[in-house]
Amino acid sequence: RLYNEVIELKGNIRVFLRCRPLNQVEVANGCTSVVEFDSSQENEMHIISSDSSKKQFKFDHVFGPQNSQEDVFAQTKPVVTSVLDGYNVCIFAYGQTGTGKTFTMEGTPENRGVNYRTLEELFRISRERSKIMNYELYVSMLEVYNEKIRDLLAENSNQPSKRLEIKQAADGMQEVPGLIEAHVHGTEEVWELLKSGSRVRSVGSTNANELSSRSHCLLRVTVKGENLINGQKTKSHLWLVDLAGSERVGKIEVEGERLKESQFINKSLSALGDVVSALASKTGHIPYRNSKVTHMLQSSLGGDCKTLMFVQISPSTADLGETLCSLNFASRVR
Ligand code: ADP
Ligand code: MG
Repeated sequence: RLYNEVIELKGNIRVFLRCRPLNQVEVANGCTSVVEFDSSQENEMHIISSDSSKKQFKFDHVFGPQNSQEDVFAQTKPVVTSVLDGYNVCIFAYGQTGTGKTFTMEGTPENRGVNYRTLEELFRISRERSKIMNYELYVSMLEVYNEKIRDLLAENSNQPSKRLEIKQAADGMQEVPGLIEAHVHGTEEVWELLKSGSRVRSVGSTNANELSSRSHCLLRVTVKGENLINGQKTKSHLWLVDLAGSERVGKIEVEGERLKESQFINKSLSALGDVVSALASKTGHIPYRNSKVTHMLQSSLGGDCKTLMFVQISPSTADLGETLCSLNFASRVR
C-alpha cells in the first residue's frame, strides 16, 4: 500500500523528495496544492486527497516549494564530495516531466543546480587538500535515448559510428570505451562544457524540451587522486543523472516512435527501480544488465557506493495521479 510509507535511509541509499512551487499557468487554471509541508519536519510531507484526508510520506529529507538550490545542495554536499575520498557515487533525479529534474541537477544561470555546485565544491576541497592530495578531475557527458548511448562532448556525435558500448575494464569497472573525458581545472571551464553538451543534446530534435524529457542525461565526474604522503592512488566516479520523464503516455500517443520511446523509458526506469530496491533489501541477484543506464553504472551502484535519488513532484491537483506514481516508485527503492 502507498499510504504511510516510511522511506528511510537504508545503508548507502538516500531518497530526497523535492516539490516545486505551483506555476502561474496552474494558478490561472485554478489548480491548488495537494502537498503539505511542515517546516519543523525535515523528513515528512503529506498528500491531501480530494476528501481532505491526509497521507504521510517519509524520506531522508523533503524540500518544499520554499526551499532554495542552496538548501538542496547543503544536504547533497556530503554525498557528492565523498567521491574525493574514493567513493563511487550516483545521484538521480526522477519524476514526471515539468517537476524540476533539470532545475535540480542543472539549474539556471541565476540559480545553479547540483551539477555546477558539486564541481565548484570539488575544486574548492581539492585546493584545500593540495598539500596532502593531488586530484585530477575529468568530465564526461552522455545521453541514453532508446537504449543507445551518445557522447555529448564529441563533435559529430549524431553519426551512427559514434555509438558507444559498455565494456568491463581490466580493473573490473564498467567502462564506455571512446567516451570523451575532458580534463577540467576550474568551474568556468566546466560551465562552458555543460552548456556545449546541452546544445549537442538538442541537435536533431525540433523541440529540445521534448527530447530531453525522453532521454536520460548523464554527467560523469572521474576523480583521480594521489596521496602525496604515502603514494596511494584512487580512481572514482560520480554520476549525476537527469532521468527521462516518468509519466505514463496518453492513449493517443501510444503509436509508432512514441510507443517505442515510452517502452524504452518504462523499461529503463523500472530496471533502475529494480536495481536500487534489490540493493536496499540487500538480498540476492542485482539485475544490472536489464538497461543501459544500470549496466553502465554497475560499478557505481551497490557495495560501499553511495546513491541519492531525488524524487521530484508537482504540487498541483492536476498531477496527483503522476505524483502518487512517483511516491510509489520512491517507496520501492527505500
Ligand atoms: P523537468 O526537467 O523535470 O522536466 P524542469 O527542471 O524543466 O522540469 O522544470 C520545469 C519548470 O519549472 C522550469 O521552468 C523550472 O525552472 C521550474 N522549476 C522547477 N523546479 C523549480 C523550483 N524548485 N523553483 C522554481 N522553479 C522551478
Ligand atoms: Mg528536464
